[in-house]
Amino acid sequence: MYKKISLIDKEIADIINDETKRQEDHIELIASENYVSEQVLNAVGSSLTNKYGEGYPSKRYYGGCEFIDKIETIAQERAKKLFKVKFANVQPYSGSVANAAIYLALLNPGDRVLGLSLNSGGHLTHGFKISFSGKLYESYSYSVDENGFLNYDEILKIAKKVKPKMIICGFSAYSQIFDFLEFRKIADSVGAYLLADISHISGLIIAGLHPSPAGIADVIMTTTHKTLRGTRGAIILTDNEEIAKKIDKAVFPGYQGGALFHQIAGKAVSFFEALQPEFIDYQKQLLKNSKVFCQTFINKNVKVISGLTQNHLFMIDVKSTYGLTGKEASNILQECNITVNKNSIPNDTESPTVSSGIRLGVAAMTSRGFMEDEFIILANLIDKCLRDPHNESLKTIIKKEVAKLTSMFPIKRSYIKK
Ligand SMILES: *Cc1c(COP(=O)(O)O)cnc(C)c1O
Repeated sequence: MYKKISLIDKEIADIINDETKRQEDHIELIASENYVSEQVLNAVGSSLTNKYGEGYPSKRYYGGCEFIDKIETIAQERAKKLFKVKFANVQPYSGSVANAAIYLALLNPGDRVLGLSLNSGGHLTHGFKISFSGKLYESYSYSVDENGFLNYDEILKIAKKVKPKMIICGFSAYSQIFDFLEFRKIADSVGAYLLADISHISGLIIAGLHPSPAGIADVIMTTTHKTLRGTRGAIILTDNEEIAKKIDKAVFPGYQGGALFHQIAGKAVSFFEALQPEFIDYQKQLLKNSKVFCQTFINKNVKVISGLTQNHLFMIDVKSTYGLTGKEASNILQECNITVNKNSIPNDTESPTVSSGIRLGVAAMTSRGFMEDEFIILANLIDKCLRDPHNESLKTIIKKEVAKLTSMFPIKRSYIKK
């Protein structure tokens, strides 16, 4: 359990403590969320938030940077070690800004990009029309097939037709292992850069439970707060010195102003944690949990998109299984203190704000110590609830079961033994 905070500004302190309690009381299944350790929280809440330091270590526009230079350098070194690459930029404020900086570094406005469509599980910044990536660049998309799988022959065909300058792989809602080498071949056949956006699966990659794009993609981007379990933010990685220089310029002064050193310190501390053997154990447990959770739904004839998951997340077709929209299912579960997000599924007939699916991720609850048994219990609770969505007394019972589980598995303050 995190410590309560106290402020002279009681109004804000109370709300923060309410949010902390909400996090403690709810079962968190949003695949992009996790719980940082109190070590990371303390670094993020430190004096570093006061410091301005435009530029990079030993090349700053401000004085007094001797300590933040050390912190940024350590963060870079740890990131390089974790992902086995030569260059790391640890300044991006978020994954979306990091992607914007990569576009700025490698492309000219109006150049063509090719990414997975949003309703197939891609990200807004991979070319969606209302994002900078679809407005400032000429964006094209590939999709998953009707069963939810990537088809590399199809992607190659589209790439040959479109001739993009950059191809993006790496997704927000894809539960299968994918092949960076296949994407590399496709990119090479049309002379495109390959961007691997591993925001969701970076923790699994560190643990060797998903292939790594290191040495294959031209640029790698990951957020630091999903399976990596660090503070909000992102990093950009590459082995290519020329690209590294362009990326640095695109992050600052291209896209961002002064770096956020409290956030960079939070990243550094979470990288420290990710370099410990406990992190590998966490990722292994996460994968076991995810498979058992998913299999329990499959055993109950729930339609899971693309079958048994190979990573930390999967999607359920709640429309064909329970006759509910994604929006309805997520609202019903919310009443039982179970947090999920609605998600489009292949060939969805509902709009993205309604959708026919929900996305379930196990990273956060695995951080709290859930093992296979708890995920089996949880799958049973969710299935029962969605089969009988108007049964109020059932919801009360489920809410009590949730309370039992969350109090047995409080948010941990540290993930490192000692
Ligand atoms: C989460 C995510 C991002 C964006 O991260 P933000 O920090 O929310 O901007 C980018 N790409 C993918 C694939 C993601 O899943």
